[in-house]
Amino acid sequence: MNRKQLDFLMEDLRRRYLPYRQRQTDTALGKITAETDDPFKVLISTILSQRTRDEMTDKAAHQLFARYPDAKSIARAPLPEITRLIKPVGFYRQKAVNVKEVSRIILREHGGRVPPVFDDLLKLPQVGPKTANCVLVYGFGIPRIPVDTHVHRITNRLGLVKTKTPDETEAALMKVVPREYWIDLNGLLVRFGQSICRPIGPKCSECNFRRFCLYYKTGVK
Ligand code: SF4
Repeated sequence: MNRKQLDFLMEDLRRRYLPYRQRQTDTALGKITAETDDPFKVLISTILSQRTRDEMTDKAAHQLFARYPDAKSIARAPLPEITRLIKPVGFYRQKAVNVKEVSRIILREHGGRVPPVFDDLLKLPQVGPKTANCVLVYGFGIPRIPVDTHVHRITNRLGLVKTKTPDETEAALMKVVPREYWIDLNGLLVRFGQSICRPIGPKCSECNFRRFCLYYKTGVK
């Protein structure tokens, strides 16, 4: 994909889905970030969302924050209580342990505030590159590219990157996508991936990127 096609893609996605901050109540993380820019809530919600459906993440996050809204209160909360509140999400027992530990570390080592630094975030339990980047983008407004399954799948289908893992995709995208597009890319592609370029049965007939999409040109047409 060349620069002109990339500009076309971003313009089309932005026209279709922006301003996603106002509209982003269609994902669990979207709901949280629409309600608050608190990096701590973004961090905990992203951990809760791992391998979990959006509506379950949303329910668990709201139950947890209604009772324990910050690092200090979660760090001091009884583990069984955290476990009970986040029970709607997958792997809730393990996540409860990690949510509490993350809160304790943030309280002890960062004065109760989430550090806006990628490498510091990666040191926290259950925080990988995608979660760290989500916190930087949605909690701090720092340009990064969180790569989830949608971003990985779509950018490979388009031929923007040719990678095997989300981590490879992140590194490749940072090389080929101009920095001005980083902050919007995840939010736009998630919505595009939920509505048109779906994992199974992408709606190519409704897509404006067919003329340069590798997947369409080589596999579907
Ligand atoms: S043409 Fe099909 S596969 Fe390619 S980006 Fe569009 S929906 Fe996805």
